[in-house]
Amino acid sequence: MAARLLDGTAAALAIRAELAPRIADFTRRAGRQPGLGIVLVGDKADSQIYVTNKLKSAADEGIGATLSHLPADASLDQVLTLVRMLNADPATDGVLVQSPMPEALGSTAMQSIFDAIDPAKDVDGFTPVNVGRLVQNRADLVPCTPAGIIELLKRSAIDIAGKHAVVIGRSDIVGKPLATLLLHRHATVTVCHSRTVDLQEVAATADILIAAIGRPGMVRKSFVKPGATVIDVGINRVTDPAVARELLGDRSARYEGFVKRGSAVVGDVHREVADIAGALSPVPGGVGPLTIAMLMANTLRAAEMRLIDTIVDRR
Ligand code: NAD
Repeated sequence: MAARLLDGTAAALAIRAELAPRIADFTRRAGRQPGLGIVLVGDKADSQIYVTNKLKSAADEGIGATLSHLPADASLDQVLTLVRMLNADPATDGVLVQSPMPEALGSTAMQSIFDAIDPAKDVDGFTPVNVGRLVQNRADLVPCTPAGIIELLKRSAIDIAGKHAVVIGRSDIVGKPLATLLLHRHATVTVCHSRTVDLQEVAATADILIAAIGRPGMVRKSFVKPGATVIDVGINRVTDPAVARELLGDRSARYEGFVKRGSAVVGDVHREVADIAGALSPVPGGVGPLTIAMLMANTLRAAEMRLIDTIVDRR
């Protein structure tokens, strides 16, 4: 039986249609568009693609996004100065620093940057204040990918309460916040990671299985309980023809695309899982579009909250 495909592109379009009148209303009331300041450091190809997609989506939505691009050899001080300028800019409602940082800045650079972002403008939801508020179930700005996964489940009428959710991956940007959101929605949550013993057996007990690992096609049929919902968060670029053939199938249009371009993007879930899962989010077209839609939603939310604060301040 083939799994029901969870269409992230359609869900993202629906979210963006819901945001449109609110963005128009904000723009009329504030006399300017919601503003998003994006910071990119270096020239990593994938980061440039992500940033370009974010800028395009913002322009399509009527959100005024600006890009500040620093060279790969920028110092941490330069990045922090830029963040502080965006924090202080009244027309900037959201500040996003594209990760990862160049390795030369050191392993703690990203955390220092998150520490510097004004929590009221933290549209990624990564500052310590917003992480704390998320844990306390009173967050305004929730990390975009986990928030998008919850929207996808909700809009696909997949119940979360009382279900066993297994999250593979414990990163600060996906695994941990997602586990917290699922817990707040009354799932029984198990978080697995690289040191989990018997990963396959644990995964196969899930009603909702989420793969946020970064390993192409790692989740096989044997990881999945028949009928389970499987969410594939992975975005992995593969260039090895043998791996691409295995993961895309050598007769598929996507494999033909791989042969033409020499690379393809695949998820963490093997295509054979479609034979056993009840519902499955594809890559591409699953979680990815929702991440960007939730970034737009967070930017608008930050803008609306700042507008209310301004009105209260003027009284
Ligand atoms: P990460 O590298 O920070 O974390 C990966 C996690 O997987 C770690 O917690 C690690 O313990 C776990 N892991 C690694 N190998 C494992 C193994 N063999 N068995 C069990 N667990 C293992 O990655 P991340 O930032 O959380 O991203 C995960 C994936 O999701 C990546 O492919 C990334 O590109 C993708 N991603 C997609 C979106 C989106 O919008 N769709 C957003 C963010 C990340």
